[in-house]
Amino acid sequence: MTTLADPVPGGRPGDLRRVAALTADLTARDVHGIVLAYVDTAGVCRVKTVPTARLEAAVSWGVGMSPVFDTFLADDSIVTTDVLGSPDGDLRLYPDLDQLVPLAAQPGWAWAPVDRITQEGERHPGCARTFLRRIVTDAAERHGIAFKAAVEIEWCVGLGPAADGAFVPAVRGPAYGAIRQTGLSDYTAALLAACAVQDIDVDQLHPEYAPGQFEISVGALDPVAAADRSVLVRQTIRAVAERHGLTVSFAPAVSAEGVGNGGHLHLSAWRDGANLHAGGEGRYGMTAEAEAFTAGILARLPALTAVTAPSPASYLRLRPSQWAGVFTAWGRETREAALRVVTGTAGRRAHDANLEVKPVDLAANPYLALGCVIAAGLDGVTAALPLGEEITGDPARYGPDEAAALGVRRLPTSLPEAVEAFRTDDVLRAALGPVLADAVTAVRLGEAAAVDGLDDARVAAAYRWAY
Ligand code: GLU
Ligand code: MG
Repeated sequence: MTTLADPVPGGRPGDLRRVAALTADLTARDVHGIVLAYVDTAGVCRVKTVPTARLEAAVSWGVGMSPVFDTFLADDSIVTTDVLGSPDGDLRLYPDLDQLVPLAAQPGWAWAPVDRITQEGERHPGCARTFLRRIVTDAAERHGIAFKAAVEIEWCVGLGPAADGAFVPAVRGPAYGAIRQTGLSDYTAALLAACAVQDIDVDQLHPEYAPGQFEISVGALDPVAAADRSVLVRQTIRAVAERHGLTVSFAPAVSAEGVGNGGHLHLSAWRDGANLHAGGEGRYGMTAEAEAFTAGILARLPALTAVTAPSPASYLRLRPSQWAGVFTAWGRETREAALRVVTGTAGRRAHDANLEVKPVDLAANPYLALGCVIAAGLDGVTAALPLGEEITGDPARYGPDEAAALGVRRLPTSLPEAVEAFRTDDVLRAALGPVLADAVTAVRLGEAAAVDGLDDARVAAAYRWAY
């Protein structure tokens, strides 16, 4: 769990009290350096590192890094907004000691997510982690609601980097097949071992549908910790793979055709320790607030897509009938609806019931994605938005009249279309604040321009190894 405290120059009090003992412990465990990680607007995790002996200085005064990365594209070119993208200025990166963990698959290294503040000690308005913390804090203060969240991770495992950047599956065999499990037995066992050492409670690990694809799901945490964890799990998946001579892709679409890599969000809203998605008077045990929360997300899905599916390659994944959830609809355990109501098994519902948001991939900055989805849901709660009829089956089978009658719309089919919806969405823009909202718009338009004129195969290739 995270403490939900913003860093300040001189250090967060709790972190200062424990940093000396932590440094000694890390040193005794032969940890020589700390990876300081954050995710940029384009969804790329970027890092600085410091020697372990500098951890106390980093916790107290931060580590410098340019704000220019807020408007980096996935190919490292830079766009600008009114206030971002210039070579001027510097920010301080503050590691969050609550989340610091020695890396099992990178001996000598520990890892921590960072918050970014200005040299004057103000919150950096472009800091996605600070944004999510603010959304979660506001939800607690204004609504008395806390959240649990988890990010599912799908990825494709390939043979060592091919010279031409092609993806060559590292294992053969059918979807969900035992052949794949035995084929990558050593790699996946090492991955489970690394997760266990790093205190990541893995729920499941299985071979998925696409060639070489696997999926891991982990236990739910508060949203900031869940976003941190998704970054850490990916760092771990990649590091373990490299130790086995393998290469991994988290890209939304490793190939132009076929099933992509999702990054589905699981979310549940809680009040006073009670799960609002279970035991209520609404459908499938949802309380009125859980229904309104679901309706709030549903209403804003087209605009949310600009945040949850932020890459041109995202729209190669977001196709009907591939379980990516490309229609504005909800249903109980319906894998073709954008929102899947998960009740859990009888006897466990008060604990397990949650909402799965499917049109999300791992190019999404998890802090921005969770923060925007929660903000949309809370807007539904504030407005007591009614939740329409559920659907069953694949909405792709509906003709236009039936779809219209059910309020089922296709989500944006391209990044520019998603940006159009996002630009006029006052709720999301207000939640993000102008600096982040403009960064999202500029980076998405920059990505779209970068692939202008490329065919699908080239788009997939352009982002295959970016995330
Ligand atoms: N790979 C699918 C996607 O792109 C999801 C499969 C599943 O439901 O786990 O979202
Ligand atoms: Mg899956």
